[in-house]
Amino acid sequence: MNIALFGPPGAGKGTQAKELSKHYAIPHISTGDILRANVRDGTELGMKAKEYMDKGQLVPDDVLIGLIKNRLNESDCESGYLLDGYPRTIPQADALKLILEEIGKPMDAVLNIEVSDEELVARLGGRRTCSCGESYHVKFNPPEKDGVCNACGAELYQRDDDMEDVIRQRLATYNEKTKPLMNYYKDQEILVDIDGSNTVDAVFADILEVMDQFK
Ligand code: ADP
Ligand code: ADP
Ligand code: ZN
Repeated sequence: MNIALFGPPGAGKGTQAKELSKHYAIPHISTGDILRANVRDGTELGMKAKEYMDKGQLVPDDVLIGLIKNRLNESDCESGYLLDGYPRTIPQADALKLILEEIGKPMDAVLNIEVSDEELVARLGGRRTCSCGESYHVKFNPPEKDGVCNACGAELYQRDDDMEDVIRQRLATYNEKTKPLMNYYKDQEILVDIDGSNTVDAVFADILEVMDQFK
């Protein structure tokens, strides 16, 4: 299965991706997670990316295109892929199309997870993240043990960009740069709308149901 998750920050892409990646046995490729790992490790890429991430802006396209090209050429993508957070601009989508043609793995579906702005702000404000990529919410999806990841036992943290002023900037960036991709994929007839406002389990069930038609 070759899938991309699309939607604003806080829609639940990462949360659904964790389960979908297990269900379909395909790698979860989160460009945000890859960038954050680089920031943590203090790589050159990480130092460049951090400036943009902290301001709620997009990291330049050439950086992301190189990154995703390398990642999609790794051997685990032979079984398919689950993109989360890429593409976010039209040039990224154009580049992706060429990369996927090269590796012979066109996208089956782009899942557009829809959630109201009010709910997004509430979700992002209470998000707690693990360096392993899991995310929790203090109210909506708390870990079993306060502040500790269920999956790997590491300590959870609040992302620098999950502060109120940066949240607002990220939503503005999404509306300006990323939302136009909805029509791009609608025109290609691979965009599928998912109501992301339900519980985590209900959203997951809806995704499996719509993905049934792509088997
Ligand atoms: P994204 O990757 O799209 O930015 P996340 O998956 O990290 O979003 O989810 C954002 C926040 O909302 C997290 O705190 C997560 O626990 C919470 N969340 C995810 N899905 C739901 C849901 N269906 N209902 C309520 N909260 C959710
Ligand atoms: P969210 O949970 O808001 O969907 P991500 O973890 O996907 O956030 O991304 C965090 C930040 O990393 C973004 O605000 C942006 O600065 C950068 N980033 C991630 N993916 C991309 C991308 N495809 N293009 C440009 N910047 C990106
Ligand atoms: Zn963890």
